[in-house]
Amino acid sequence: MSLKREHCNVEGTLREAGLSQTARRVAVLTVMIQADGPLSAGDILKRTDPEQKINKVTIYRILSSFRENRIIRELPTDQGMNLYEMSCRHNPSHPHFYCKTCRTMSCLPPVNLSQAQESFAGQNVFRIDDVHVHVTGVCRQCHRQDKI
Ligand SMILES: [Zn+2]
Ligand SMILES: [Zn+2]
Ligand SMILES: [Zn+2]
Repeated sequence: MSLKREHCNVEGTLREAGLSQTARRVAVLTVMIQADGPLSAGDILKRTDPEQKINKVTIYRILSSFRENRIIRELPTDQGMNLYEMSCRHNPSHPHFYCKTCRTMSCLPPVNLSQAQESFAGQNVFRIDDVHVHVTGVCRQCHRQDKI
């Protein structure tokens, strides 16, 4: 999904969410915007500027404030670990594929989940915040390695 070069701007996103622009929030959001796929808190930590001296507790705090403000979406995995990706007009709701062998999650093309969301809303649903479609299996790379 993030193959699109055009993306959100850090300052504008924080401003729209009503969050103040602390150096750490800017650092984490920059990583999220530049990501080429869903990231774990550990991945985000590795990619932030060490100058910011961000630790895991801070990362989780920032991620939960981003999630509450719907800047990012949280993607649960079978291992109980969560991954995160941008939730914005450049990256609308889409299904994810989880490889059980290498434990990586990749984005699948959107299959019009926005329309699915509208039809769910006709039921006994008051408000839908996000839709998760979770597809698991073995990725191409792991399948190739199996054969060697
Ligand atoms: Zn965006
Ligand atoms: Zn794999
Ligand atoms: Zn995705």
